[in-house]
This record gives sequence, C-alpha cells and structure tokens, in this order.
Amino acid sequence: MRFKSLALQVLQQILFYAVLFWLVVSAVRAGMLFYQGQKRLAEIPGTVNALYMPLLAQSVWDVELPTIQQELASISAINGVEAVTLETRLGQRLHYRSPHASGGHHNIYRLDVRLNRNGAESLGTLTLYVSNTPVQREIASDLITSMAQRTLDFMALALLIIFILRRRFIMPVQQLAQAARAFVPGEPAPPFRLQYQTELEDEMTQLLASFNAMRSSINTHLAERERYETALKEARDELANRVEERTARLDQLLSFQQLISAISSRFINIPLDEVDEAMDGALAQIGTFMEVDRCYLIGVDHLQVVSMVHEWQADGVAAGVEGLGFAPLSDRPALFATLLREGVLNIPHCRQIPIAAQESTPSDIESLLMIRIDHLDQPVGVFGCDMVRRARQWRDEELVLVRLMGDMFANMIIRRQQLHALSETQQQLEEANAHLARMALSDSLTGLANRRHFDEEKRQAFDKARRKNEPFALIMLDIDFFKEYNDRLGHQAGDQCLRQLAALLTSFFTYPGELPARIGGEEFAVLLPGLDHLEVRKRAEALRMAVWALNLAHPGSRIADRITISLGTAAIDAERHSSIDQMIADADAALYRAKASGRNCTG
Ligand code: GH3
Ligand code: MG
Ligand code: MG
Repeated sequence: MRFKSLALQVLQQILFYAVLFWLVVSAVRAGMLFYQGQKRLAEIPGTVNALYMPLLAQSVWDVELPTIQQELASISAINGVEAVTLETRLGQRLHYRSPHASGGHHNIYRLDVRLNRNGAESLGTLTLYVSNTPVQREIASDLITSMAQRTLDFMALALLIIFILRRRFIMPVQQLAQAARAFVPGEPAPPFRLQYQTELEDEMTQLLASFNAMRSSINTHLAERERYETALKEARDELANRVEERTARLDQLLSFQQLISAISSRFINIPLDEVDEAMDGALAQIGTFMEVDRCYLIGVDHLQVVSMVHEWQADGVAAGVEGLGFAPLSDRPALFATLLREGVLNIPHCRQIPIAAQESTPSDIESLLMIRIDHLDQPVGVFGCDMVRRARQWRDEELVLVRLMGDMFANMIIRRQQLHALSETQQQLEEANAHLARMALSDSLTGLANRRHFDEEKRQAFDKARRKNEPFALIMLDIDFFKEYNDRLGHQAGDQCLRQLAALLTSFFTYPGELPARIGGEEFAVLLPGLDHLEVRKRAEALRMAVWALNLAHPGSRIADRITISLGTAAIDAERHSSIDQMIADADAALYRAKASGRNCTG
C-alpha cells in the first residue's frame, strides 16, 4: 500500500473542509454584503433628498452656481452614484460624473428640486445615476481580503497543526511503530517512553500504556505458554519414558517367556546324552538374559545329596560352585542350609551379611540370589545367580522371573533324573538281553559258540563263500578216548579238560570270520572262511600239535600219555558241495577215517 504521511492527509482534509467552509461563509457574506449594498443604493435618493436637496434647492433658487456645483460634486461623490445631472427650470443643465464611474448598469432616480415648503414650485429635476458596481467591487474586495486573510491564517494554523501533530502524535506513533517492529515476543523489553514528558494523561499516554501492557501481556503469555509447553513436554517425555519402560518390561517378559518355552521344548524328548549340554546351554541363555556374572543349577537326590552341578560364568568370571562335591547339600556352607529352610535367598550385599555366612560364601560374590527348587513338595535342587563384578539390588520382577523358572528347573532336574534312571534300566536290560543272547548262542561250559550258533553261522559263511566264490573250509574234531578220561579222572576233570581245550581253540582261531564251536559232548567244529583244502589241513595239523603241546595228562588213553584229538577237514568244492551239510558230512567222514586209522591224526 502506498505510504502517505498522516500529517499530509490531515492537512489535505483540513484544507478541503476549510475551503469548503470558507466558500460557504464567503457566499453568505457576499450575499449579505450584496443585500446591504443594494439597500444602501436604494437609500441614496432618500439620503440625497434629506441631506443635499435643501441646500441644492436653495442654491438653485438663489442661482448660486458654485454652491450648486459643490452640492452636485458632493452628491456624485456618494458611493454608488455614477453621475448626477441637474436640469433647472430655467433650462440649465449641469452634469457631474463620479471619478470612480465604471459605466455599468445604472438605476436612474429623478428627484424634484424644490424648496422645503409645502406647495413650493419645482425648481428642476435632479437625475441620479446609481450603479451597483461599487457594491460588487466592495464584495469582491471583501472576498479577496477575506481569502488572503484566511489563507494566511490557514497556513499559519496548518504549520502549527503540523508541528503539534508531528510532535504530539506522529512522532510518538512512529516511535511506537518502531518499538512494535523491534519488539521480539519473549524477549524482555524496557517500558516504552515518549520523548516528550507530560504530566497529564491523554489518548497517547493511554495508547502507550496499552502498548506496554500488550507487550508485557504477550511476554507473560509467551512465558506462560513456554511454561505450559515445558510442562507438557516433560509430561510427554515422562509418558514416553513410561511407555518405553513398560514396553521394555513387556519385551523382557516376552523374551523370558520365549526363553522358558524354548528351553522347556528343548527338554521334551531330549536324549540323555544331550541333557547336560542342553542344561549348560540353558544356563548360558538364562545367565545372559538376566545379565548376571554367574548362574548355576545344582540337583539333589531324595537324601539331598548333590547329584548334579551345572554352572555358567560370564567371560572373565571364575567358577563358583564347580568344586561342590557330591555330598549332602546340608553339609555345605551355611547358606545352603538356610536356602533349604527358607526357599529363597536374596542377598544384595554379600559383604554386609554376618561373618559366619560370609566365610562360607566364595569371596568374590557381591550379590547373590538363590532359590530352592521343589518337586512334589520335595527339594530337588537349587538355582542361583551371582554378581561378582558389581553389587546388584534384585528387583521384584527379577525375583518373580527366577521363581517362575523354578518349575522349569524342577522339570529339567526331574527329567534328567528320569533319563538317568531310564538309561540305567535300559543298560541293565541290554546287559540282560546280551547275556541271554550269549546264553542262547554260547556253550555254558566252555563259553564257545554252541551248536545253535554254529548252525546259524555255518550256513551264512557257506552262502557267502559260494556267492563270492571264495575259499571256505571247516574242521571237525573229537577228543580221543574221552570216556576213559572221565572214567579215570572224574567228570569234573573232564569238564576242566573241555574248558582248556576250548580256551586253546579261542586263542588259536582269531582271524575274522573264524568260529570255533562246541557241537557235542567232546566234539568241536571250526568254520574257516578263506582257507582252501591244503590250508585247512595245515591248520588242522597245527591245532593237533598245539593240543599235543598242551600236555594234558590222559592216563586212560591207549595211544598217548596225554589228551589227543582226531580231526576231519573239508574245503568247499563248488561242484561237490551244494550245501553246508554236504561239507559237514565230508568233514565227519574224514574224522571217522582219522578215528579209524588210529586217532591223533587228521583224516
Ligand atoms: P573215541 O576215541 O572213539 O572218540 O572214544 P570216546 O570215548 O571219546 O567216545 P565215546 O563217544 O564213547 O565217549 C564220549 C564220552 O565223552 C562220553 C562221555 O563220558 C564224555 N562226555 C560227553 N560229554 C561230556 C561232558 O560234558 N563232560 C564230561 N566230563 N564228559 C563228557
Ligand atoms: Mg565223540
Ligand atoms: Mg571221543
């Protein structure tokens, strides 16, 4: 918007209204002057009749020309009289013209010149030429003078108004505007003062007071708003902190639930050989989750004897309960006895607990938290957390979490115990089964494979050799004159002899696949995969020599002073042997031949 000084605007408006006012006043004044002028002109004939006519009539009567001329001059000098003409009865004509005559429109008045007597005769006619030009001039002059006067007045007044306006109004307003522009809300501003001092209160001082009040009100409002905003921000921050804290707690609880759930799931159907590793892993997870330096799980049996110790330590932290032996827990440091009694031990500052208890705690512990783990109202273990690098005030929710873990630990410990018991039972069962199997397949007297085992193995060995087209042989052997041995030395000695021979066979046939077996009272057979006809005979002979070398005295033998054996061998022959039984028959036949040919030989 275009700037235009207020003073100039005021001045223009004053000028406009002043000119308007002046025009109205001048019009009225001109009208009045015109009316007065007209009235005065109209009064001229009367005035002439009253003032000049007697003397003029007398002068005309007396024919005193100088006086007449003087009178006429006087009449013509009357303002408004343009000219005057005297025509006497005697025919004289005198005409006087006013030096100011303008020659405009005239009103003509004819006056009888007569002596001031009733019925006196007319001495002539006095003709007055009256013009309103002087009246107009007078009006014009008056208006011009008035205009000049008023213009001067107005200019002086205008200057005065401008000066006062400027000093009392414009400058303060400008200063106020500048102060308003310079005002920065919120920043302290000294009270604004006018440059001129006044004792009185006026609109300007009121405006100033209002401005100062407004400024301080804005600042107060701003300060208040700032205070509210700060309070609001603090409240918001506090709320955000609370939300964050609550969220963190919920997250922690969720993580905890996930952790417990993961650990619990891990222990469902866990094999025994993974239990201890899983427990170590679970402790590591729990220790890390709870941000402790060390945590441990101790299992006890129904006599409260330690049966299991698992411990996890943070990096750089020494072991705490590692050395805990498998002894009754109540024999352990007083703390454990207290724990078994109380169920929970929460010691934020271990160094402040009584000396007796402190002695029994590892010296590096600053804070500890332990719970007794119960199952069916019986203590089955202890779970504990240690802080060694700094003391820690356990929070209520941490106590709750640890208590919640109690059930899980109880399940872990019970599960481990059950798995151990199951494992032991399984082991016993397996051993019993193995024993039974051995019993079923081995000879109870000598421990060698029995006939049943031999029959099973011989078929498999034969089939394998036939399938792979590999050599396979067997030996049948029988103790010579064993009846006599029994008869002479007794049945127990006979049994002992059988055991000794069996031990020899076990030590003699050690190659893979070789199977010595007791197939009858004093008859034995040996499966020999990989041997051909010649090799089996060599082994048979070597065995016979080994039996000889045993030198078991046989007083009843008719061929020697010691136990001897007769042997028959057979090696697989693809064309001849379609079954193992044929091979056995061949070996039997060979044995028979050996017996028949004098015994202590291979047939
Ligand atoms: P041969 O030289 O012809 O083989 O004569 P032998 O006496 O050895 O043969 P025989 O078949 O007549 O006798 C076998 C004997 O083996 C009969 C029995 O007294 C003895 N015997 C069989 N089984 C056992 C056993 O388990 N323990 C003992 N001590 N002797 C047994
Ligand atoms: Mg026999
Ligand atoms: Mg015999």
